[in-house]
Amino acid sequence: EKLKMGLSKTRNGIVDKVDSVLKAYKKVDEELFEELEEILITSDAGVNTTMEIIDRLRTESKKRKITESEELRYLIKEILIDILTLEESNELNVSNSPSVILVVGVNGVGKTTSIGKIAHRMKGEGKKVILAAGDTFRAAAIDQLEIWSNRVGVDIIKHQEGADTAAVIFDAIQSAKSKNTDILICDTAGRLHNKKNLMNELGKVSKVLEREFSEAAKETLLVLDATTGQNAIQQAKVFKEVTNINGVVLTKLDGTAKGGVVLSIANELNIPVKLIGVGEGMEDLQLFNPNDFVNALFG
Ligand code: GDP
Repeated sequence: EKLKMGLSKTRNGIVDKVDSVLKAYKKVDEELFEELEEILITSDAGVNTTMEIIDRLRTESKKRKITESEELRYLIKEILIDILTLEESNELNVSNSPSVILVVGVNGVGKTTSIGKIAHRMKGEGKKVILAAGDTFRAAAIDQLEIWSNRVGVDIIKHQEGADTAAVIFDAIQSAKSKNTDILICDTAGRLHNKKNLMNELGKVSKVLEREFSEAAKETLLVLDATTGQNAIQQAKVFKEVTNINGVVLTKLDGTAKGGVVLSIANELNIPVKLIGVGEGMEDLQLFNPNDFVNALFG
């Protein structure tokens, strides 16, 4: 129900439109497919993903001899779930103790907020969490993360503005070890305008983490803002080039009617969405699962 509420704009933006088109056309024909294509494109599903979905709809409805548009609704759900289901799991990989979550993303996408929400969720599961204020580029980023650490009630390791991110994270690892921490969540700076800097910085951080954590205990999450639509896909492509992303946190889904970008992330980037942000509060973070998501949209 909470998911449904968080997705209400996207429900209005996509599903209500799909339903009214299905109702208007009644019979499955090429015109109906064109209308559906239009809805997907305008909801930021991306051209390639939209084409793939429509092609599959066309082929499958023929194969199954679906002629009434009412029946098409079920097929649409089925195809969307399939598009969202990747080989890699949508679950956060944090069962090892200690585990580390490296959080990357451009400024303003909701990185700090998401870290706070994840910490809150993990703490709620009885885990001991430490935050590392690795975005040392802006003093405000360190302050914001500290506010969240107080709000959630977890420790934070921070250095001065301008300090070396890898050094902060190294310190945080030592602290995590000495305090029997289950999960270390590391913030990083999100200056995308300089790819070389980003690569150097994340490369250094990755080396520090690799020394201390096995691949199985390490998760790199990219935070993307759903309201930026296909821009988010461009950001993801750059981050994918410089680091190994295990999952996406898609924020601000509550603030857009164009949640179709979630399809694009799965289909074009082949990265599982693991968490979605549906509000500004501590509790407004949901685990992502293709079935629940599509059912909340169409349910
Ligand atoms: P950062 O610069 O990436 O660390 O971004 P912040 O975490 O500071 O978030 C930027 C703004 O987006 C803040 O006003 C947050 O409250 C807001 N925000 C973050 N996540 C969500 C979300 O899921 N939904 C909504 N509506 N707002 C969000």
